[in-house]
Amino acid sequence: MTESWLQPTALDILSEVFGYPNFRGPQAAIVDHVVKGGDALVLMPTGGGKSLCYQIPAIARQNAGHGVTIVVSPLIALMHDQVGALHEAGVSAAFLNSTLGFEESSAIEGQLQRAELTLLYAAPERINTPRMKDLLRGLNARGKLSLFAIDEAHCVSQWGHDFRPEYRSLSLLHEMFPNVPRMALTATADALTRQDMVERLQLENAAQFVSSFDRPNIRYTIVEKLDATKQLLRFIQNEHAGEAGIVYCQSRKRVEEIADTLQGAGINAMAYHAGLDAALRQQRQDKFLRDDAQVMVATIAFGMGIDKPDVRFVAHLDMPKNIEGYYQETGRAGRDGLPADAWMTYGLNDVVNQRRMIDTSEAASEEFKAVMRGKLDALLNLAEGTACRRVSLLHYFDEESLPCGNCDNCLQPPAVWDATDAARKMLSCIYRVQQASGISFGAGHLMDILRGKATEKVLQHSHDKLSTFGIGSDLGEAQWRAVLRQLIAKNMVYVDAEAFSTLQLLPDARQVLKGQASVILREQTGTEKSSRAKKVTKTSAKGIAEAALNAGALARLAQLKAWRAEVAREHNLPAFVIFHDATLRAIAERNPQNARDLEGIAGMGVKKLEAYGAEVLRACR
Ligand code: ADP
Ligand code: ZN
Repeated sequence: MTESWLQPTALDILSEVFGYPNFRGPQAAIVDHVVKGGDALVLMPTGGGKSLCYQIPAIARQNAGHGVTIVVSPLIALMHDQVGALHEAGVSAAFLNSTLGFEESSAIEGQLQRAELTLLYAAPERINTPRMKDLLRGLNARGKLSLFAIDEAHCVSQWGHDFRPEYRSLSLLHEMFPNVPRMALTATADALTRQDMVERLQLENAAQFVSSFDRPNIRYTIVEKLDATKQLLRFIQNEHAGEAGIVYCQSRKRVEEIADTLQGAGINAMAYHAGLDAALRQQRQDKFLRDDAQVMVATIAFGMGIDKPDVRFVAHLDMPKNIEGYYQETGRAGRDGLPADAWMTYGLNDVVNQRRMIDTSEAASEEFKAVMRGKLDALLNLAEGTACRRVSLLHYFDEESLPCGNCDNCLQPPAVWDATDAARKMLSCIYRVQQASGISFGAGHLMDILRGKATEKVLQHSHDKLSTFGIGSDLGEAQWRAVLRQLIAKNMVYVDAEAFSTLQLLPDARQVLKGQASVILREQTGTEKSSRAKKVTKTSAKGIAEAALNAGALARLAQLKAWRAEVAREHNLPAFVIFHDATLRAIAERNPQNARDLEGIAGMGVKKLEAYGAEVLRACR
């Protein structure tokens, strides 16, 4: 064991190995705590820099003779790239998973046994095997089991949105190795999930490091769903042409359709969902990570752990289940800190579908359903809300903030109208119809009655005789839809999905009917909204990032990117693992003449300077 004063500090490791001059936010405190052997719970938004929080302690503790850090990660598909990135930085790391053959596995197990590795990545199901447990016991007996880092730790909780039963057994780590420090990391956790995580992983005594969840470079926009496909096309073509992004849809079928439509419009798009076979999924994921610009159209099966830093937008064509899901998914945009968009279309059907999925889920208990309904309502409030989106989002994670100036509601404060009167008309119409006919009807028919349209069906049921016939002729259909959506979102109206989507009153409707509650709605802005918004939005990532470079630097950047693509292909790694865009831009700007000029560029660690310095200089000429 080396004397501690001879060892590099955490800051030395940060700059020499990773090429970064400073820790970000709470990283320094976390690293310090874990290097000393403390347990930690780390809550940091996506892109906040969680990996370094365990990688640097792993290096420091290995240097000090404590042996190997085990990283538990749910996604075997990504271990390869993570380990590749560590190798590029000169760190001894490996993964054990089902993609390896017997010989490769044995070789890595040997390295593990001899504690030659600094980090070993493994999936939770691997950790649970008797063989792995034996290896870990052996290591620990020799004092060479340094640290457990449990990534995506929210997977342990059923309240989180990615519950994975295999995570449950990770509590055994504490029982088997009470002396080995553990840290749990996640980018998502509301109070309930956090508490569950602490209990399940027995981290009651761990220090908690909760960062701000704000992602200031992400612009949030939620638009009303009119023609979702057209709206999406316009959004991509106007604001993100040629850039990488993810489009989330709810069903596999819709994923396929949207991917086809985008391809038809000349956009480089691929489909990804659990119905595709594993090899094809892997191939598409690799393509998304490796190629410069790609749009992935996917179900939520795609994305956990995707650490591509230059995703410029995340679009939701259907509403997610809850705010945690929405925040986690949108968080995949703009990890590099450059401007990015989180864009969602949302409509009446989204509310109805999500409600129905909760109501009809057979496996769930009533308690569970009640929690899920509450979470959905919070998301509906966000979507319907007129206040700053970021303030609402952060509030959900118990964080107070001021209006951000970088969301649709801040940039273009929505006009609102008092829809209390309209809401009352709608509610009493539902009531009258039910009373007169003894059965319920759907939204279309009710709107016909309100607007005084004597359709065949209206006449057949004598609904033109109702006192509510024609009392809403002053509003258009779109406005009525908005009123209805709000009433459904606020739990005043129930949509019976089993009975032709007919509408029924719920107890909460009484307040509005009695004039004890008001209903305030966003003005319907329809199509022209996105084009108006565009003028404000025109500071797209490319705009900011590349406008600043002069012609010479732009030429160098192009050369550097071409060179990087070649190296990435040779090493079978994504380009950003070799160097980030931001690093290449800094190099292009500096116009380096010799190796000295490359020192101190963020992202240029000692090992990378040694390995690539000469080639980078050549590419710049
Ligand atoms: P997370 O896992 O929290 O989503 P990552 O660990 O992938 O985030 O880090 C996000 C990005 O930020 C990575 O590209 C990483 O290299 C970069 N990064 C992390 N910490 C620092 C730092 N202290 N200085 C500069 N860049 C950093
Ligand atoms: Zn805002």
